[in-house]
Amino acid sequence: MLPLVNTKIIATLGPASNSAEKLEALIDAGVNAFRLNFSHGDHSFFEQLIATIREIGEKKNLDIPIIQDLQGPKIRLNKFTNEQKVNTGEKLDLPICDHIEDSMNRICIAFPGLANEVKPGQRVLIDDGNLELKITGTSKDQIMTIVQKGGTLKPRKGVNLPDTKLSLPSLTEKDIKDLEFGSTQKIDYVALSFVRSHKDILELKNYLKKFKLNAGIIAKIEKPEALMDIEAIADISDVILLARGDLGVEINLEQVPSAQKKVVEVCRIKNTPVIIATQMLETMTNNPVPTRAEVTDVYQAVSDGADIVMLSGETAVGNYPVETVIMMKKIIAESEKNLFTASNSLELSENTDKAIALTSAEITNKIKAKFICSFTYSGWTARLLSKTNTRHPIIAFTPLKSTRRRINLYRGVKAFHVQDNINTVDKLIETANDELKKLGIVNPGDKIVIVAGQPLGRGGITNLLKVHTVI
Ligand code: PEP
Repeated sequence: MLPLVNTKIIATLGPASNSAEKLEALIDAGVNAFRLNFSHGDHSFFEQLIATIREIGEKKNLDIPIIQDLQGPKIRLNKFTNEQKVNTGEKLDLPICDHIEDSMNRICIAFPGLANEVKPGQRVLIDDGNLELKITGTSKDQIMTIVQKGGTLKPRKGVNLPDTKLSLPSLTEKDIKDLEFGSTQKIDYVALSFVRSHKDILELKNYLKKFKLNAGIIAKIEKPEALMDIEAIADISDVILLARGDLGVEINLEQVPSAQKKVVEVCRIKNTPVIIATQMLETMTNNPVPTRAEVTDVYQAVSDGADIVMLSGETAVGNYPVETVIMMKKIIAESEKNLFTASNSLELSENTDKAIALTSAEITNKIKAKFICSFTYSGWTARLLSKTNTRHPIIAFTPLKSTRRRINLYRGVKAFHVQDNINTVDKLIETANDELKKLGIVNPGDKIVIVAGQPLGRGGITNLLKVHTVI
């Protein structure tokens, strides 16, 4: 029997996990949400995959959040044919080309206009920083460099320019087409890559409006500029994702842990759910057992206050996707045993909604109630309760499927359907009582704490707290 945990797990899908059979096995092992990486795959492929996930969700009576991860302004080498070894100290001239599909007979950086953006002395990092070049000069259509760290140039590898402020739009033409496709699929979350400031989030919001897509926004933090603007980004994003892969190339590797602590702390203050991602159990991509350091990393992320942890290559292309999820769940369970302290809960302020959320979590602990049970439209009440770090599962009732899918990503939240005609507080209490009994998770005599917003049926208010004994 697998442990019950509150911290949520996202699995990135790929060839190792795309089949219906593997998807089911991942859900059974403990995956709560799936991430589709739009850097790879076409729309018909994703349409099929989304349909399969939703079918499995229907079968298992689960509202599973699906995340569309937009590629963003990622710079890459083109798809050339022959890999090339370059040595430290060597001079290397790299042409600039329009597209990664450029000629396969030469190596180029697929980013038109790059030569106008960079300056001599700046670094070019390739393949997650495995190769490092220093720019010595530029011409109209190429950059001249000296290799600082040699290695092998491979097709399609990512290029990072940590010293250059790029004037790229936050959403590329491809992202906009992908987003329009996502709107036809009623995707639950859109993750924006290479966010530089909160203005990028505002731009994405405009596109969501344009495409009439009611999705949550996940801001991927992987640029130093985003760390500088993290408060404003966390204020207007639905979820924050610390993308340690690219971040570890864009800032010094040894600065990643302090960036993680800072981002988690800002998200606690702003009540924004936060995902810690990348290389969490990397060794398990090819090995049935993780390293002790990886186990400690997952444990620490949870105890620092991560609401969600994410697997990438481990579940997308790994040999042990299901075993990795089982391992992750066991580590989370161990970490959560020691988690519940006031210091990593949301901050008490003058806001009624936060005070109600925090107090309800405390009351639930004190009176040994079985659940906190919330009624929510927008998901706001569930989000606040989730950020209290309560050890109790938060049952969230809502008539809206889109809300259920979205809030199922929040730490500790389990969303269930409820009819949309609850118009008195008495009816609300009766509904909680009856629905929890129907779910078979309470018995007469159990205490539950009910949290809602009154007037009923309006989103964004949390002002009602009731202790109820199940009858
Ligand atoms: C990362 O860089 O850590 C990340 C999650 O982003 P992607 O996998 O899209 O490169």
